[in-house]
Amino acid sequence: MYSPRFDKRAFKHEVTENVKTLFRKTIEEATPQQLYQAVSYAVKEAIIDDWIATQRTYDKEDPKMVYYMSMEFLLGRALGNNLINMTAYKEVKEALDELGIDLNLLEDQEPDPALGNGGLGRLAACFLDSLATLGYAAYGCGIRYRYGMFKQKIENGYQVEKPDNWLKNGNPFELRRPEYAKEVRFGGNIRVEYDDKTGKTHFVQENYESVLAVPYDYPIVGYNNHVVNTLRIWDAEPIVDFQLESFDRGDYHKAVEQQNLAKNIVEVLYPNDNHYAGKELRLKQQYFFVSASLQAAVAKYKRKHDDLMKLPEKMVIQMNDTHPTVAVAELMRILLDEEDLGWNEAWEITTKVCAYTNHTIMAEALEKWPIDLFSRLLPRVYQIIQEIDRRFLIQVREQYPGDENKVRKMAILRDGQVRMANMAIVAGFSVNGVARLHTEILKHQELRDFYEMMPQKFNNKTNGITQRRFLMHGNPLLSDWVTEKLGTKDWATDLSLMSGLKKWADDKEALKEFMDIKYRNKERLAKYILEHNGVEVDPRSIFDVQVKRLHEYKRQLLNILHVMYLYNQIKEHPEKSFYPRTFIFGAKASAGYIRAKQIIKLINSVAEVVNNDRSINGKLKVVFIEDYKVSNAEIIFAAADVSEQISTASKEASGTGNMKFMLNGAPTLGTMDGANVEIVEEVGIENAFIFGLSSDEVINFENNGGYDPYEIYNGDPDVRRVVEQLVDGTYSHGDHEMYRDLYNSLLKPTDGNRADMYFILKDFRAYAQAQERVEAAYRDRDRWAKMALLNTACCGKFSSDRTIREYVDEIWHLDHIEV
Ligand SMILES: *Cc1c(COP(=O)(O)O)cnc(C)c1O
Repeated sequence: MYSPRFDKRAFKHEVTENVKTLFRKTIEEATPQQLYQAVSYAVKEAIIDDWIATQRTYDKEDPKMVYYMSMEFLLGRALGNNLINMTAYKEVKEALDELGIDLNLLEDQEPDPALGNGGLGRLAACFLDSLATLGYAAYGCGIRYRYGMFKQKIENGYQVEKPDNWLKNGNPFELRRPEYAKEVRFGGNIRVEYDDKTGKTHFVQENYESVLAVPYDYPIVGYNNHVVNTLRIWDAEPIVDFQLESFDRGDYHKAVEQQNLAKNIVEVLYPNDNHYAGKELRLKQQYFFVSASLQAAVAKYKRKHDDLMKLPEKMVIQMNDTHPTVAVAELMRILLDEEDLGWNEAWEITTKVCAYTNHTIMAEALEKWPIDLFSRLLPRVYQIIQEIDRRFLIQVREQYPGDENKVRKMAILRDGQVRMANMAIVAGFSVNGVARLHTEILKHQELRDFYEMMPQKFNNKTNGITQRRFLMHGNPLLSDWVTEKLGTKDWATDLSLMSGLKKWADDKEALKEFMDIKYRNKERLAKYILEHNGVEVDPRSIFDVQVKRLHEYKRQLLNILHVMYLYNQIKEHPEKSFYPRTFIFGAKASAGYIRAKQIIKLINSVAEVVNNDRSINGKLKVVFIEDYKVSNAEIIFAAADVSEQISTASKEASGTGNMKFMLNGAPTLGTMDGANVEIVEEVGIENAFIFGLSSDEVINFENNGGYDPYEIYNGDPDVRRVVEQLVDGTYSHGDHEMYRDLYNSLLKPTDGNRADMYFILKDFRAYAQAQERVEAAYRDRDRWAKMALLNTACCGKFSSDRTIREYVDEIWHLDHIEV
């Protein structure tokens, strides 16, 4: 086993010194937060050497690099994960024990860097972990939001948002790099200059506002390989200091404006998941980090090379959703205006460098910026987009003479809007979906015209997750067990080895060990829930878990309506045997998403009624875990018996929560949506609980005006009863109006939407029957244990290492690096 350059004595000395120099205290006197800082700085010391060595290797070998551009990186805590990847977790734990410090308590001192909303941001974080682990040169490019995702409090059953001041105590792992600062310009006008001597036209931006983008680098530690890559997140500072000079020149106003622009731009992450809000500040954020990252990337290339035509041999840009796709036009601008290339050359480079990942087919998530806003904020970039669009439409008309319908659908600029997805597809050399089903829907439905015109661009990259965080760190008991059973720890970098566990699937002793571990993880979660929610749950009950962003398409409402139905059943048939169950929810709703917040309130109202009804003998418990985030997610996945993945088929592009549950031995209760399809393919349909409409059926209904929910309401008394309970006061202390909107959404067209547009009532009975199959399976302890174990054994495909290998082989073509 490779041993890190870890010297226990030196480490203990370092921690003691850090406490002294940082806080003028002894270890005994220091607060837990101070100890966390002292330990983190000591760990950073160890990382820095590898970080420098990695940079040196990159300088020497000059490999091709990927720039992963993303508005979000949902990293989770760094300390424990860095120790895992340095393979120093156990040694450091021991060293700290000897100093009388509990590493677990220290880890809890670290705020989650929550620079993301949910799946998309977490995917970016998993990808960085895999890229470093596999030894590829990669930069994450993003924004250093002062306030990350809000903290969620539940008050009186309602979600309340509190600011997440995650930098309050500083961030031990980051490094400010003012020497790489770049200017980013907004607004003003474009003056066209004709140079008689060279015969060239120049475009000069005037009367603009600008900010200084200052990068902070954040180490991304590879597993057991000394590679340390960089996540570069940008902060904004005013360009001119707020000085008297400007005041004297009458520029006071301008100085104030730049101060404000800088302060505002990186102030806060927008808390929208899968939803486009069209806010000007959001567009500023997008251009801000994209422009700074590209300026830095081109400058870095030019330090070593002088032929820009060969740029695509050394760099590739992956655009995580449409959020950073202004990169296409910004790279053109840099090549045209700053590097003096001609259009054809600049276009050739750009279209060999940029690649686009699509994350959703939902109309409300598509970014379409109003042209007046866009052109005012980014006048030169807008001119370039006009030219890209003009040239593209010539091509469309050539290929489809007389078919103005094609032009209408594929244009980048249309109906007063800039359609970012269209631009990304036109300019990108690769367009990928994130699960097989999703990619097929893109090709044959949403992006059909583009697929017909340029099929070679389209490809699938099914998402993945890192087993280092979601098993090694989150579930140490199961992690050790897997290593023991496989006789190797190599699964840490080759998750396909998990299939070796299959041979234990009929071994009574092994199954018992597996379920004992699950039980201990359930005890750990029960303790967390008691401490954080004040609710007592029984680890012997079935832990049925749905944790993810709150969204109508994810159908938390279906889940809670089913809980209401079970509660009715238990009350009505007290004599029937019923296996005790705990339904666990965790979900943040976007602050402005009213219906989502009503669903949170409903879950909490049902919890209040059910949890306090002594007559049901604790057969049913409902828990809403406050502030779902990466750090508590790790604990939750480890403890889950059932993984709820019940989105309306066709709506969830992939899902990655589903994979984390599977890794931790929780069978999927779900629809044939996103990556669930591939999970079932790997584990076998007999080891999952699949129900409901298929994506084809859903799409068919949608193309034919929906369905009539009254058919279900009138035909199924159990359904009618729970729907009526939304408005009869059962869960609202007699208030008939509290859940009226949810009630209406299920039965009537509302806000121009179809009645029950997510097919909740349509799928209800099938869901209830699938839940009955869950209960029956769980009663058979051996059968359940085998199912659970097989889920862990069959999860190999869903490592983000596999996903990254596919990106590297089929899109990025990076060089492998050894440090
Ligand atoms: C994995 C993860 C998600 C994504 O979950 P889905 O079920 O795929 O939507 C969201 N938030 C956190 C904290 C996660 O770890």
